[in-house]
Amino acid sequence: MDNPTTLNTDNFPILGREVYGHRLVYLDNAATTQKPQAVIDCLCDYYTTLNSNIHRGAHYLAAEATERYEAVRGKVQRFVNARHSHEIVFTRGTTESINLVASSFSQRYIKAGDEVIVTGMEHHSNLVPWQLACERQGARLRVVPFSDEGVLDLDAYAGLFNERTRLVAVTHVSNTLGTVNPVAAMARVAHSHGVPVLVDGAQAVAHMRVDVQAIDADFYCFSGHKMYGPMGVGVMYGKEQYLNEMPPYQGGGEMIRDVTLERTTYNDLPFKFEAGTPAVGDVLGLGAAIDFMESVGMERIAAHEADLTRYAMERLAEVEDLRFIGTAPGKAAVVSFLVGNAHPYDVGTLLDKLGIAVRTGHHCTQPVMDRYGIPGTVRASFAVYTTREDIDALVTALHRIAPMLN
Ligand code: PMP
Repeated sequence: MDNPTTLNTDNFPILGREVYGHRLVYLDNAATTQKPQAVIDCLCDYYTTLNSNIHRGAHYLAAEATERYEAVRGKVQRFVNARHSHEIVFTRGTTESINLVASSFSQRYIKAGDEVIVTGMEHHSNLVPWQLACERQGARLRVVPFSDEGVLDLDAYAGLFNERTRLVAVTHVSNTLGTVNPVAAMARVAHSHGVPVLVDGAQAVAHMRVDVQAIDADFYCFSGHKMYGPMGVGVMYGKEQYLNEMPPYQGGGEMIRDVTLERTTYNDLPFKFEAGTPAVGDVLGLGAAIDFMESVGMERIAAHEADLTRYAMERLAEVEDLRFIGTAPGKAAVVSFLVGNAHPYDVGTLLDKLGIAVRTGHHCTQPVMDRYGIPGTVRASFAVYTTREDIDALVTALHRIAPMLN
């Protein structure tokens, strides 16, 4: 990227903070990204000038808020290249999006004895909802294994399909290993068996251009807060043909067409899946976040982060006794590692005191930790504003804390 430092200081006020007397080096972007000023301003403007409930009010503010909320739906549609704007459903985040699909899809399509395929590297958000759905429906999960490098075994994947397979749920990018999974190829295999695919895009949308039609995902889920937008808002993209067939997830206002005491008919898409008052200001903030990413350019963001990831892997390899967890070729901006026998929590705590924010633990992927026989990892994850200086600071700090470990 030409000048990431400009973006860093001008657009993301929180990055100007100090912690424990040190410049904040924020390397926990896979957990949540920081927000550009334009997103913060958008939220503030909404509550200062526009706050009102949408779709039902017969007054000026309600009409304008509705128009702007629906305009963001169109913006999201274009951002991920969905065929129709009514295939974009606003939710609270990836977790709610996946729970919506797991609950609603399974009621309609999954019966006793059926099977759902997941991978061994799923975030708990793309595993537990399927365990719950399978338990409810009397179905079972099949799991795609992965190699020591963190690469899915695609032969094993192809071998899991049978006439009882009803859905594949796979993460686009692993939040622990950084692996970018070949979701389009996996969707082709699934579709050759007539099986739809849900892709967890939580760690992808802010880091690469995502085209749901090119992937041919049947469902694609993501969170606003991991893409420079507000917390509390996310997206469930679903193909019209499935969304029309699936029952509502929650009942309440907005999702109905007609209600009597005996019977209710449901609203059209996408409103059938948006019961109750949505997070209007946060949806507008998500629109501002998309504008921000488009203004930088997804290709530039991807190139910048690919360069940083290469640089980080090279520089971190200099640290004595450092072991990477996840070394798949072409991995995304997530670097997990362990230092000697030190507990990741101790490493994280010492780094924190030097102003470096990383994540430690199992990262909501306990089966991945079990796969490697480790309690957790230290994870550094990058974003558009991350610089080589940030990575240098991490490496210097690791050298500095080395005598305190073990
Ligand atoms: N899937 C993946 C791959 C993630 O990294 C996360 C967030 N850590 C989630 C799902 C859940 O996202 P959220 O907490 O925003 O619902």
